[in-house]
Amino acid sequence: MRASAVISLLLLCGAACHSDRGPATRQASARPPIILITIDTLRADRLGSYGSRRGLTPSLDAFAREATRFTVAVTQVPLTLPSHATILTGLHPAHHGVRTNDGFRLSPAAPTLAAPLKAAGYATGAFIGGYPLRGSSGLSRGFDRYDDEFLAAPAATERPADAVMQSASAWIDANATTPFFAWIHLFDPHSPYTPPAPFAAAHRDNPYDGEVAYTDAAVGRFLDRIRQRDLFTPAAIIVVADHGESLGEHGERTHGTFLYDATIRVPMLIKMATVRVTPLIDVPVETADLAPTIAALAGARLDHTDGRSVLPLIDGAAGDADRPAYAESFYQNVLLGWSPLRAVRTARWKLIDAPRSELYDLEDDAGELQNRLAERATLASGLQRALRALDSGRGATDEARAAATSESAERLQSLGYASGSTVPTAASTAIDPKDHIAVWAEIEDGIDLTARDPASAEQKFARALQLEPGNGLALKYLGDIRYRTGRSRDARDLYRRAIDAGFRHADVYVNLAAIAEREGHFDDAREALISAVRLTASDADAWNRLGLVEARRNDLDAARRAFSQAIALAADRSEPYYNLGVIERRAGNVAAAQARLREAIGRNPQ
Ligand SMILES: [Zn+2]
Repeated sequence: MRASAVISLLLLCGAACHSDRGPATRQASARPPIILITIDTLRADRLGSYGSRRGLTPSLDAFAREATRFTVAVTQVPLTLPSHATILTGLHPAHHGVRTNDGFRLSPAAPTLAAPLKAAGYATGAFIGGYPLRGSSGLSRGFDRYDDEFLAAPAATERPADAVMQSASAWIDANATTPFFAWIHLFDPHSPYTPPAPFAAAHRDNPYDGEVAYTDAAVGRFLDRIRQRDLFTPAAIIVVADHGESLGEHGERTHGTFLYDATIRVPMLIKMATVRVTPLIDVPVETADLAPTIAALAGARLDHTDGRSVLPLIDGAAGDADRPAYAESFYQNVLLGWSPLRAVRTARWKLIDAPRSELYDLEDDAGELQNRLAERATLASGLQRALRALDSGRGATDEARAAATSESAERLQSLGYASGSTVPTAASTAIDPKDHIAVWAEIEDGIDLTARDPASAEQKFARALQLEPGNGLALKYLGDIRYRTGRSRDARDLYRRAIDAGFRHADVYVNLAAIAEREGHFDDAREALISAVRLTASDADAWNRLGLVEARRNDLDAARRAFSQAIALAADRSEPYYNLGVIERRAGNVAAAQARLREAIGRNPQ
């Protein structure tokens, strides 16, 4: 594999290498160590190497001087889980099926990068910084070690870059004598922005920048350690962001809804296990290109990817400035039923396909403020065709649909993400997200405020409903606050309106059931819980609650079935064993009751 790469390099350089590219020779080992660092939520324009003068990234800038820098690297989706699914499979979201952070899980049929690397003799380790990439998302497939263990603590959502790096460094030390692939995920720049000292004080007015500066320092410490182990030179090291952050541009506070460059153009740096060949590549590349690139570096096979290896570009091949890099956002389509957004970006142009489509000339309008669609209709329809060609083919979204559980919803909510879905209607899909971004902004603010200031959160959700009456997600969140503060009737009314508006989340039914149960309406409670498990068959908590209601209705067989479902789904939890034990005792099955209760004690001696 490597031998042929050297030959192609020499051939291509004979025709195309510039004299300032340095010696066009390689002396890499056949299977170099490969380190992939994905930095969550890192805007390209915060790096000095991408033109920032803020001085936030001295370590990454030093690294960039030894790497190939991609000026037009495009993420396929500005959300953590689907973006990483693309990075680790080389597939566009339609093909791996993961469209948002919750309610999807990478389909077991989707080939991931780690498996062929392992087959090629690589040790494979992943070190995760944030909850959206929990192993149960399906990304852990093919990794010898998938370190998301900090998430075992209840309500844990993220850990700092230094902690991730420490775990990764220890694993690398233990595997340094074999070819290894280490994927390191740093979550710090993601909201909430809470940089540690001394970065908090140094960036009091801009804590996002403080997180970026802290992350850069942690990357610097890690790379120093890699150098001390004599691994820096022989390793291929890739640094990329999964998406950027809007920070208020176009009315978007964070990321996920829009496809402007603030979130879809990402920093991408690749240091080869050789002398640097090409310092700068200014043709469009996709984050989907990374998996085939890494597979090629390792001499592994990864078939049927949407991305393509960038090694020929690094080796000096001329690229295509008109390659249409793909991006999409289904966040508000899934959540609120609004129109999805799809885009293609070339080196100069971007077309965003929406109810009111947009065309931007990024050469003289980097802020994407002047829609050129009317004046450049022919160009736009060409890009539209390119977009349709990229968007065709069989989708995998249905296979990837998975349960959004109450547990995942809570942790994602503390990271600013909403969970659930709205059944789209003709009216809702006619909504262009840019026309309703104020609605989403109120909801997003409300999500952030819910834990620390529920009264203000309530006002935000109420304001969203003024702007868009019948917004199912806002109704649900308002219902949650009323529910938690004991205003059950209000909560029930809001939840019912949310369901009527097409909003679907198991929590809504579980809370409706709890209200009905409190009022002694066990048939209503049962009906609501059956709706919950029908919607989210993997919700162990809902099954357990259904078992309790069936027991109160004296249907012991139905209760037994429900508790058994809960056990099958979450075998580590003690409650369903305990409940099953109580049921067996009531049914007169003493031995079975003893066995179940012992199992409950084994899981929770308290
Ligand atoms: Zn992310």
